[in-house]
Amino acid sequence: TWGQVRESLMQRVGKNNYTTWIEPLRLNRLTNGVAHFEVPTSFFGDWVQRNYADHIRSQLVNAGAEVHRIEFAVASAAPKSAPVKSAAAAAAPAAAPARPARARAGQDEELPGAPLDARFTFDSFVVGKPNELAHAAARRVAEGGPVTFNPLFLYGGVGLGKTHLMHAIAHELQLRRPDLRVLYLSAEQFMYRFIQALRDKQVMDFKQLFRSVDVLMVDDVQFIAGKDSTQEEFFHTFNALVDQNKQIVISADRAPGEIKDLEDRIRSRLQCGLVVDLHPTDYELRLGILQQKVEAYRAQYKGLQITPGVLEFLAHRITTNVRVLEGALTRLFAFASLVGREITLDLAQDCLADILRASDRKLTIEEIQRKVAEHYNIRLADMIGPKRLRTIARPRQVAMYLAKQLTARSLPEIGRRFGGRDHTTIMHGVRKIEELMAMDSQLSDDLQLLKRMLQG
Ligand code: ADP
Ligand code: MG
Repeated sequence: TWGQVRESLMQRVGKNNYTTWIEPLRLNRLTNGVAHFEVPTSFFGDWVQRNYADHIRSQLVNAGAEVHRIEFAVASAAPKSAPVKSAAAAAAPAAAPARPARARAGQDEELPGAPLDARFTFDSFVVGKPNELAHAAARRVAEGGPVTFNPLFLYGGVGLGKTHLMHAIAHELQLRRPDLRVLYLSAEQFMYRFIQALRDKQVMDFKQLFRSVDVLMVDDVQFIAGKDSTQEEFFHTFNALVDQNKQIVISADRAPGEIKDLEDRIRSRLQCGLVVDLHPTDYELRLGILQQKVEAYRAQYKGLQITPGVLEFLAHRITTNVRVLEGALTRLFAFASLVGREITLDLAQDCLADILRASDRKLTIEEIQRKVAEHYNIRLADMIGPKRLRTIARPRQVAMYLAKQLTARSLPEIGRRFGGRDHTTIMHGVRKIEELMAMDSQLSDDLQLLKRMLQG
């Protein structure tokens, strides 16, 4: 029945996850309600235990087996050498149209990179205040000239264009410097490749391959935080490439200093190049992105009409991230062309009601803490930590005040997000800031600025 169970698990978790995490499992025995599986590494076992054990158990139960618990043990004997699957196919994001990173001409071995999205180019990237620095840095790297900063570290929240910029760099380098070996992949894929190499006893090949590229781009590097052996390997790869003066580009959802469970030596290495921040979008940038998208759509849907003011409305209301903004526009166009109607404000409000509602309550306490920490140049960790130093306690109170003002959270809820503080502490903080504001014009300026930044 494990065969059938695997079938239904594939339906459940998707083909990619299935190939990566389920297929390598061997069901050894099923005794006294415990299913024993063999896994390639203990990390692999932990991961599957954490992410898929419930699925596996429920599918086994569905198939009529009596299972209360699942255990994973590392295979002791030499592994039966399973055929090496095409790593790219197994780990690639399902949605991305394929165009694998190209290997150097004359070198027939293909780099195991993730496919690049053909739409993510510099041409289609709209530049505004919030992303101009990141864009300029990416452009510089894409010229393929001598390495000037290493690594380039791009960070910012979800959907702000990190992956877009990285793909744009890769596309541009392929055009300008087809001689360079460019490897783009996500940190998760890096880890998966590494685990696979461990499993297949091909770590030397793995090392050689990763050390032979001219440009290495690793997306969403926060993923490897806490994954010790992967971090270790990443660190060595990183150092080897920097020593050879090869360009490295990294992205993450936060600054190096804010990534938890990252080894200090990696953190400091990541910080020693150029660290640039993709800021949350502002109104102008959102409008610019919408206008560009509309141009692209016009070619596709001929005769489509859009009432003035609709784009402004969307740019104003959908502030969370660009992906949501794009999704809204796509839905709007699809709907309008289906029913053959002009896109009016009413239509937009109707058709996008759920998205609009969701982006109304977008601001989170965590975002407030991050912005305030950034503004006062303190660590995000100190926002929730115990330090009582004025230089830290005051910004913390500012964040409490803003959380109360700008979100619908109750004092106890806010307290929980400030490291489990009591609601009276929060109330005290809020009052303190209200008091000080009246006397301290610097503080009231700070607050105004922060509010403006947080509310977009
Ligand atoms: P991230 O990797 O930072 O989460 P992505 O790069 O995947 O974000 O961007 C999410 C979506 O928003 C993509 O479709 C991307 O093309 C689009 N996008 C983000 N920023 C811009 C921009 N400045 N101009 C055009 N499109 C953008
Ligand atoms: Mg991304």
